[in-house]
Amino acid sequence: MTTYDLDLFVIGAGSGGVRAARIAAGHGARVAIAEKQFYGGTCVNVGCVPKKLMTYAGRYAAHMEDAAGYGWNVGERTHDWSIFIANKNREIERLNGIYQDLLKKSGVQIHWGKAYITDPHTIEINDQTITTEKILIATGGKPFIPDIPGAKEYGITSDDVFYLPQRPEIIVINGAGYIALEFAGIFRQLGSDVHVIYRRDEILNEGFDEDVRPFLHNEMSKKGIHFHPKTNIEQIEKAEHGLNVKLSGGKSIHTQQALFATGRKPNSADIGLENLGIKINKNGAIEVDRDDQTNIESIYAVGDVTDRIALTPVALAEGHALVDRLYGQKKRYISYDNVPSAVFSDPNVAQVGLTEAHARAQYGDAVDIYTSNFRAMQMTLAGRDERTFMKLIVHRDTDKVLGLHMVGTEAGEIVQGFSTALIAGATKTDFDNTIGIHPTAAEEFVTMRTKSA
Ligand code: NDP
Repeated sequence: MTTYDLDLFVIGAGSGGVRAARIAAGHGARVAIAEKQFYGGTCVNVGCVPKKLMTYAGRYAAHMEDAAGYGWNVGERTHDWSIFIANKNREIERLNGIYQDLLKKSGVQIHWGKAYITDPHTIEINDQTITTEKILIATGGKPFIPDIPGAKEYGITSDDVFYLPQRPEIIVINGAGYIALEFAGIFRQLGSDVHVIYRRDEILNEGFDEDVRPFLHNEMSKKGIHFHPKTNIEQIEKAEHGLNVKLSGGKSIHTQQALFATGRKPNSADIGLENLGIKINKNGAIEVDRDDQTNIESIYAVGDVTDRIALTPVALAEGHALVDRLYGQKKRYISYDNVPSAVFSDPNVAQVGLTEAHARAQYGDAVDIYTSNFRAMQMTLAGRDERTFMKLIVHRDTDKVLGLHMVGTEAGEIVQGFSTALIAGATKTDFDNTIGIHPTAAEEFVTMRTKSA
């Protein structure tokens, strides 16, 4: 019988990799993990966590403005970007330390450096050769910048935006997905002039409900964000005090920063996959089966590098379930149905389950729609013209709630709770039988009585 140095070598200490390594070690496996950039991966360092802190920074602007209607005299308001960034960096460093400690305490061997797979059971790292029974690739993804003259030279991505020395007074954002809309909201709240340039005729994509997309567009426009639909960036040039962004259709925008939020690509290059013949798709994603196994028996992959659902909680769940199967005698798989998600735009969007279009494609006419469009109580004394939208999609034959969508304050918090109801197969009658918590926005989801379609 071959003996290896380790049972499992994990490449990448991001969300999926750290969870898998820790849990595997807890099950008694001999585990090592390699990381070359930062503990905690994209989410902790240049993703979810600093982004959410930025949304909080932005939100105070509205809170202070609204406070006047409630009798507060807030006085002069200014925002110091450098204080915020320094505090944010300190918090991220603290979280890096926590991730490292978690790994150490669980007995995982940590290697700082770039790991390379030389054969199905061997890793080279820092001139060391380590043999292992299994390998888990959890190398995540990286921002993609389209091939536009000047874009790579002068543009920035979500990796850079968290470290800008100054807040741009004007920012052009390319794309209209998660990252674009989140940063559009953040910079607008902090006082920047924001232009969102996108190639579709509406923001977001078909993964979002067809009523949610224009509703969000309208709410964000009311806050002063400039949307440029059906528009491409053709060139970016250096200009005096900034950049000149040339758009299709002949217009140009003078800006201080151009942020490309044009999707992410799996980090699958330069780890030895080609030599081993590991299958990757045309997007660079590692192909895995239901067991997260690649076409090489001893090599597995989870998280964004597999490009299934590129969300942190999905990577965590994949990594956890995989090592439970491998080392914990628990044959469990995660479900990719009813995965809730939120865009932390201003206002938030959150959803779980099917969009109306997807429900109709699956169930035809047997779909009932309930919607609610209202001004949340907090907005009244604040004098703020901001509306909330909620939508329920119900299968008429079974009464099951197929989809739940919201645009409005704390949509992420609210939809997280309701997602358990959908996972449990809740019916519209169950929603109707739920007593509301009054007065909340969330109670609208259990008080919708009239079908809108
Ligand atoms: P998204 O896929 O959400 O959006 C990408 C945007 O860029 C779309 O508008 C897309 O247009 C556009 N685009 C893509 N390629 C080009 C191109 N060549 N030229 C012009 N426009 C282009 O990706 P993001 O970068 O915003 O985020 C990456 C992923 O990270 C998300 O999909 C999500 O999974 C995850 N994420 C999750 C967050 C959360 O949970 N809150 C927050 C941030 C990221 P089109 O629609 O036409 O393709």
